[in-house]
Amino acid sequence: MKTIQMVDLHSQYLSIQEEIDGAIARVLSSSRFIRGEEVEAFETELAEYLGVKHVISCGNGTDALQLALMALDYEPGDEIITPDFTFFATAEVIALLGLKPVPVEVTYDSFTISPNAIRRALTKRTKAILPVHLFGQAADMRQILNIAKGHSLDVVEDNAQALGAEVQVGSQWHKTGTVGRVGTTSFFPSKPLGCFGDGGAVYTNDDELADRVRTLANHGMTRRYHHERIGINSRLDALQAAILRVKLKYLDQWNAKRREIAMRYTQGLAYLPELGIPTIENYSYHVYHQYTLKCVTPELRDNLKEELKAKGIPSMVYYPKPISAQKAMRPHIASIPSNKVTQQLCETVLSLPICPELSAQQQDYIVSTLAQLVERHSNHVCV
Ligand SMILES: *Cc1c(COP(=O)(O)O)cnc(C)c1O
Repeated sequence: MKTIQMVDLHSQYLSIQEEIDGAIARVLSSSRFIRGEEVEAFETELAEYLGVKHVISCGNGTDALQLALMALDYEPGDEIITPDFTFFATAEVIALLGLKPVPVEVTYDSFTISPNAIRRALTKRTKAILPVHLFGQAADMRQILNIAKGHSLDVVEDNAQALGAEVQVGSQWHKTGTVGRVGTTSFFPSKPLGCFGDGGAVYTNDDELADRVRTLANHGMTRRYHHERIGINSRLDALQAAILRVKLKYLDQWNAKRREIAMRYTQGLAYLPELGIPTIENYSYHVYHQYTLKCVTPELRDNLKEELKAKGIPSMVYYPKPISAQKAMRPHIASIPSNKVTQQLCETVLSLPICPELSAQQQDYIVSTLAQLVERHSNHVCV
């Protein structure tokens, strides 16, 4: 059996090698490395896929968040409500721009921001809600959009982990990242749509906002060497765009495969009371960027991680520490909130390998090994 990896990027490359190599060769012979037709074509193709008017590509997913927030023109001290359980970048950019991150509780089942926690955190300075579609599952956008509407707030969706996921709002299904004022994503290699380096994008249906993002990503320049604002330099290069154009065609197929794998994990593990399996919310088409279990105790989580490793099975803890407990956040948040669900998740979550290339044989081995380990622990407890 092949070595098991969290994400098998090499096998993925081999499965589409001819097309990828062709795309790279095309860019090399054009010698057009920055902007140009590959980048434009990718932006158009991604906009079509998402059903959104504008896609502005940029250097990475963190820049995408930063550009979206810069373009919204908030004042220093304005508050942005965001989940306490997410990758650091989400809250980092808020603080970096002199705005105030307000990290709030998530719901235990979905891992995503709790609408009730958002309601409790609203103040006169709240300007936006920044939900994260964590692990490939949409946040509860119906409620989030309602709260935003009632309080005239922007919704900025961090879609770095959920490209291709969908969310139901009213009777309609939409791609995640397209129902708020602006959405952002990352093309980091291990993300659902990953390039061969760094990349990211901002998307929106708002024409003026799209213009501002484009200007800000290019030194605030409106005409060549005429700079209207202080911006940044953040761009997707043509090689990455050409690679992403190939991979975008496979995204739905790969996401369907992830869902199949997730289903098989669930079938094989759901009977174990020591493990909480990921739940699917009825408003969400989940694409399983991660398959994340909740163990009954922190000790079980830590033991399983070590024991799986000894059996050749990698696993990861996304994430071991709440945003609000990060040292870097201390000067930026008024007081450390008591987010008990987030704390509990940080102590008990464990993500298993999941990628379209994981074979049935590898998966069976992971399921049977994990089940054995769990049963051994529970026997110890009973004796
Ligand atoms: C990966 C990720 C980012 C940042 O993307 P980069 O491309 O690594 O800058 C932001 N938010 C979330 C939730 C992520 O998972």
